[in-house]
Amino acid sequence: MIEIDGAQGEGGGQILRTSLTLSMCQGIPIRIKNIRAGRNKPGLLRQHLTCLRAAKAISDADVSGEQLGATEVTFIPGKVRSGEYHFSIGSAGSTSLVLQTVLLPLLFADGISELHLEGGTHNKKAPSFDFIAQVYLPLLARMGAGVEVELTDYGFYPAGGGAWRARIHPLSNLSKLELTERGELLERKAVAISANIPAHIGLRELAQVSKQCEWPAEYLQRKQVRSQGPGNLLSLRLQSEQVTEIFDSMGEQGVSSERVAQRAIRQMQRYLNSGAPVGEYLADQLLLPMALGNGGRFCTLKPSQHLLTNIQVIQKIAGVNIQLRELGEDTWEVTVGTI
Ligand code: ATP
Repeated sequence: MIEIDGAQGEGGGQILRTSLTLSMCQGIPIRIKNIRAGRNKPGLLRQHLTCLRAAKAISDADVSGEQLGATEVTFIPGKVRSGEYHFSIGSAGSTSLVLQTVLLPLLFADGISELHLEGGTHNKKAPSFDFIAQVYLPLLARMGAGVEVELTDYGFYPAGGGAWRARIHPLSNLSKLELTERGELLERKAVAISANIPAHIGLRELAQVSKQCEWPAEYLQRKQVRSQGPGNLLSLRLQSEQVTEIFDSMGEQGVSSERVAQRAIRQMQRYLNSGAPVGEYLADQLLLPMALGNGGRFCTLKPSQHLLTNIQVIQKIAGVNIQLRELGEDTWEVTVGTI
């Protein structure tokens, strides 16, 4: 059994999710201690508990520590089975993170899987449904993975109530990913998504983008969506020849629309200045599919704590060699070996 310290580096939920994914794909029993020790409320929250239960369901695992607040979990995976699964978080926790926990084991399983996910779809500090659909899955598709997703309901913090489906077609191996150049910038878009809040909020976010980035009206879109509770985000999207990147900023009570927009703009400007194709968040999310596939190389921004921690966990469980090389100011190359 491999022991993982959940307090290392970033000390967040990603250590648990990465460990579960690798455990299932490699058939390695694991024990994770000090879960989310780096967070204000350590231990398993609903999202993490749902990830653990989802992993248990698809791999018929023996599990201990399956309760809210648990800071230690043992997980002994069995054989991963494809099939139809329903995973409901029971709060506005991120459903994208639940998908990412079970996606790779199900991709390498023996048949098609259909997942029904319920909870939050557009969360702070997690990939939004749109990020999964437009940024993450297209790159997995380039590596050979066939995954279709369909959103039926938006879910925002705190009401939740979001719902979507993912259909996962199995494959025997993922191909190598080389993503060192962005290519031409083909499209720019700002989407202000709102549910059950006054229209001026989205309009002011878009006005800020128009003013600060000098984007014309045809780049701006206001989207009113249905959801159980109120919600808002500004999503900036850059489609380049080799990659699409999304920079999301969630609306919050007590934070002006202009500030919400500025947060997304700041992230996008950093990405544009760097010239690297892979943004800060995508970088840590690409490691697992590459390590479990045929490795490869990408260029990204200065490594985040999430990226560094994920590297440590992947190296410890799977022994994959992952190298970082500084190429210039805020531009780094990540080379991922294979298992
Ligand atoms: P915590 O333990 O922090 O409560 P958690 O389980 O939600 O958290 P983290 O360990 O912080 O998760 O991992 C969050 C994941 O979400 C990381 O993979 C990160 O790259 C991704 N992420 C965070 N913010 C964004 C964003 N704006 N867009 C896309 N992905 C994001």
